[in-house]
Amino acid sequence: MMTTLRFEFDRERCLGDAVCAPYAPDAWDFGKDGRMVLRGSRRQGKCWVREVPLAELERWKACCDACPEGLLRLYDETGMRRLA
Ligand code: SF4
Repeated sequence: MMTTLRFEFDRERCLGDAVCAPYAPDAWDFGKDGRMVLRGSRRQGKCWVREVPLAELERWKACCDACPEGLLRLYDETGMRRLA
């Protein structure tokens, strides 16, 4: 049974405006380069990736929807099905 989700952050284009931050306030820091830093993430190719609990689906979806640049994406744990 699926218990985790995959959250992806395309950091290169991040504006650092923190519009996404209120939806997951404990997940973000301000980076010294003016972009956000996603706590607990690791770099995978172009994106920074971390697992998030399925129980927090709604708040991570809201986080994705909030980004005006479309830099945040949520997938099921296989990474195959996009949820937001
Ligand atoms: S809303 Fe998007 S562009 Fe703005 S800080 Fe968050 S990830 Fe970066």
